[in-house]
Amino acid sequence: MQETASTCPYCGVGCGVIIESEGAQITGVRGDPAHPANFGRLCTKGATLHRTASRSVTLQTRLLQPLHRARRGDTPQALSWDAALDLAAQRFADTIGRQGPDAVGFYVSGQLLTEDYYVFNKLARGLIGTNNIDSNSRLCMSSAVAGYKATLGADAPPACYDDLRHAQCLFIVGSNTAWAHPVLFRRIEDARAANPGLKLIVADPRRTDTAAMADLFLPLQPGSDVMLFNGMLHLMLWEGWIDAAFIAAHTTGFAALKALVRDCTPERVAQVCGIAQDDLVRAAQWFATGASGDPQRRGATLSLYCQGLNQSRSGTAKNAALINLHLACAQIGRPGAGPFSLTGQPNAMGGREVGALANLLGAHRDLANPQHRAEVAALWGLPSVPAQPGRSAVEMFQAAADGEIKALWIACTNPAQSMPDQATVRRALQRAEFVLLQEAFATSATAQYADLLLPASTWGEKTGTVTNSERRISRVRAAVPAPGQARHDWAIAVQFAHRLEALLRPGQRSLFPYDTADADLGAQSVWNEHRESTRGRDLDISGLSWALLESAGPQQWPYPAGATTGKARLYEDAVFATADGRARFAAHPWQPTAEQRDAHYPWSLNTGRLRDQWHGMTRTATLGRLFGHAAEPCVQMHPQDMARQRLRDGDLVQLSSRRGAIVLPVQADATLGLAQVFIAMHWGSEFLSGRAPGGEPLAGVNALCTAALCPTSKQPELKHAAVQLVRAELP
Ligand code: SF4
Repeated sequence: MQETASTCPYCGVGCGVIIESEGAQITGVRGDPAHPANFGRLCTKGATLHRTASRSVTLQTRLLQPLHRARRGDTPQALSWDAALDLAAQRFADTIGRQGPDAVGFYVSGQLLTEDYYVFNKLARGLIGTNNIDSNSRLCMSSAVAGYKATLGADAPPACYDDLRHAQCLFIVGSNTAWAHPVLFRRIEDARAANPGLKLIVADPRRTDTAAMADLFLPLQPGSDVMLFNGMLHLMLWEGWIDAAFIAAHTTGFAALKALVRDCTPERVAQVCGIAQDDLVRAAQWFATGASGDPQRRGATLSLYCQGLNQSRSGTAKNAALINLHLACAQIGRPGAGPFSLTGQPNAMGGREVGALANLLGAHRDLANPQHRAEVAALWGLPSVPAQPGRSAVEMFQAAADGEIKALWIACTNPAQSMPDQATVRRALQRAEFVLLQEAFATSATAQYADLLLPASTWGEKTGTVTNSERRISRVRAAVPAPGQARHDWAIAVQFAHRLEALLRPGQRSLFPYDTADADLGAQSVWNEHRESTRGRDLDISGLSWALLESAGPQQWPYPAGATTGKARLYEDAVFATADGRARFAAHPWQPTAEQRDAHYPWSLNTGRLRDQWHGMTRTATLGRLFGHAAEPCVQMHPQDMARQRLRDGDLVQLSSRRGAIVLPVQADATLGLAQVFIAMHWGSEFLSGRAPGGEPLAGVNALCTAALCPTSKQPELKHAAVQLVRAELP
């Protein structure tokens, strides 16, 4: 038996795992006791990775060879890798030649490793000359990126997991940490056990398992977070709980924010948010003083937040309004204090680092900044990189549906199930002249639309790095060879790029001089190039080497040249990543959700994760044991609402939004507020019965969700849609 240290591929906690294998078979997995994210612990999903990755399962669910459809709707036929890559390069070159580089788009994934992301970014911007590259991370954390940049000056979560041990007050908002980041939640439980004085505040529309643990639960009305945060600041000002000296010395913009929150009175906040005024006062006091009650003896407050803040048309405003509170009370830059966004996917952070969002460039550079574009061009040995803004995820599919993007490359993500407003996504996939899907799983709902399918390796087979929520870079290692003809994502992109270079810039030096013969060497050389690009930037890892990651294990960034360790927490000197070193308060008024309940659509739909399932279930649906927690999809609603609708558990209801309808059994759930319904996001078309208004089948509950975007982060509002609900009968 062989043992290989690697990282769990499911969530942004980034737990270390030891993979046990025999030959080509993964036989077991256990937590890595040496990994600082989990110290040996795993949650149910992580602990069953070997079962979902076993050969007998993967040979049924995996894409094992390149496949091509000569015509849409045909059964795809096998072809060789050479033929597939030649075809892809020719189709992309033709499209670029006829329509220009912005007629192609790349939609990539937080499942990719940092090295995969890096190559795709260079392929799109450097070789093709388009900024049409975006990641499905746009759907989960682009508001966190925008919030950090607007206030602290850089997309860098300032806190770390160890801060849980030092905090006196934890403020969890928009995150069911107990289910979505289970191993991190175990650390919260440990912190509470070690410190009985630690106060836990949870704000959420649902009384989740996380909320059930809270000392103070704030059952927010959906979308009212900014009003809550502004109302807390109003009280902090009124009661003298702010830190005026810190504000004066280290921030700008407080006067405008102070004026904005003047009318966020407790009465108004209670009415908009649906919470008791006494609870609001308690939350503001605990937050500001770190639960001590006395601003002269301030304890430390740590905020943890996730999709409830991010997946909103006010996503940036929500993030910034929460960070405002940390700045106003000097709850940042010391042990146990700070805003701490949690990433959903295992490597959403890595994508941010290499610029795999349309508006970013590598190493946290901004596309809109001419100096940053010049730096990237110099690093790549090019005269320039394109300045034309790229399309974000929703915009990219809208552009394809409108006929403006003709060729789409989709890597390791399933937009036909996961994007909001699936009718538009389906139109995009049908109208695009060429759709290439690079994917490990043949079961993806997007596969039916692809002209060319390229089989990719996946967890247990890949080599590279990922970065978790606390900026910690961990090695991902291959324990077994990829099945069939599957290849590594970065290598597929490089092999395609070499062919496209021959067509677009023949005879010139290749931009992709990576060794594709050996996975480890190739990934390492891509990583080395990425490392050099970070020199002098806020995420500088010029002092880190592949060898050090091998010998010393996972490391946090920044890790500049000369450092002997990474930085656990940022801004300890209160010098922020802005031009003048001062953090910026961002004054955002509260705005309601994009769709509000009305007489026609009187229910609020909320979506979210189950404890034991992952994304669109491509991995987890293969293991019966992971259905023990929730066996089938359902609509959850409050028992009082069910009584009013004369519904009982198991009755079928049809839930309709302006974009589609879905039929599911109803289930009583007293954790929900009145007039709210909840559906887990994982269930695909094989579990669902529903139709879009045009009659097409729905591939997931996100079909009901609106594509309304946060104007800054371009993140869609997946957490709220107005819906109607009627009893349905079996046909
Ligand atoms: Fe994997 Fe996340 Fe569970 Fe850790 S908490 S084992 S990273 S799914």
